[in-house]
Amino acid sequence: MQILITGGAGFIGANLVRACEARDHQITVLDDLSTGYESNLVGTNAHFVRGSITDPEAIDTAIAGADAVVHLAARGSVPRSIDDPIATHHVNATGTLNVLDAARRSGGPQVIMASSSSVYGANPELPKREAAATRPMSPYAASKLAGEGYLLAYGRSYAMPTLAFRFFNVFGRFQTAGHAYAAVIPAFIDAALRGKPLVVHGDGTQSRDFTHVDTVCAAITGALEARTTSPDPINLAFGSRTSLHEVIEVLSAQLNECLLIEHIEDRVGDVAHSQADSSSLHQLFPNLVPIDFCEGLIDTIRWMRTQVADSSLNRSTATGLVLS
Ligand code: NAD
Repeated sequence: MQILITGGAGFIGANLVRACEARDHQITVLDDLSTGYESNLVGTNAHFVRGSITDPEAIDTAIAGADAVVHLAARGSVPRSIDDPIATHHVNATGTLNVLDAARRSGGPQVIMASSSSVYGANPELPKREAAATRPMSPYAASKLAGEGYLLAYGRSYAMPTLAFRFFNVFGRFQTAGHAYAAVIPAFIDAALRGKPLVVHGDGTQSRDFTHVDTVCAAITGALEARTTSPDPINLAFGSRTSLHEVIEVLSAQLNECLLIEHIEDRVGDVAHSQADSSSLHQLFPNLVPIDFCEGLIDTIRWMRTQVADSSLNRSTATGLVLS
């Protein structure tokens, strides 16, 4: 199968390119390298097109001949969206519309997109059912909801095969730390490996449904090969709930070290707790088994050790956390 992966040079994309190639699919990546790295594709056979999803011509070039599109490109991070909401909307909402319209014009390949659990926002219901009210708490969450809305509307309006996955907190190889919008797990591991304090916003009781990236890739490749579609978004997580304190405990046990922790203020836009209702996922993918959190963390630590050793994480010295 010929597959276009937008955002394929980023964290999840770099893993997905490899997972798809291992299953003999041919990959084109469209990425503007705003947060991804071309070096993430070294060792793959992906055809790389540098360009933005805000540019319809670049998408038309990259989508030619594609049987399917996995749309991962996005301007991530809640705090980044609070700093610049218009830029977030431009990429995540308008950019998604551009990708969908290019897919429509090119004959309607299957489109799978990465939405986000952040759309549930201020709705306190746990676990999060897909039918629960969405209450975005940040421009990022609103932009993902808009993108997902367009995808579902294109599915219905143009009979296009579409699937919106709501990712929860994904972690694993190729997820970098050392920048202001780093996600919590790489930020913690990076700080721990460098002997720095782990910075926790709030009291550390906030919890997340962490999902290893290999599980996410297995769901996406399964959906591609079965041409799975859904008229409603699907949570891509398994209903686990791990607090930041628990993450630190497991990390400390794995590294066999007592870790320093620095608590700072809560952050605007962060939700308190997140946990998926995974009934729809189980129905669509009955054989999908998640990687165990501890195993996934060990694998991530192993990868990050090589990065720290290579000093390739020294892109910046700022350490911050992003929970969604
Ligand atoms: P990432 O930042 O590592 O990857 C995003 C990629 O998109 C990067 O390579 C970046 O350069 C590229 N990109 C950004 N703007 C672009 C543009 N205008 N045109 C082309 N490429 C562009 O992030 P990720 O964690 O791999 O996230 C992938 C997707 O999953 C995103 O849509 C994100 O919103 C979604 N998601 C991720 C998580 C998570 O926990 N990582 C959670 C929920 C949703």
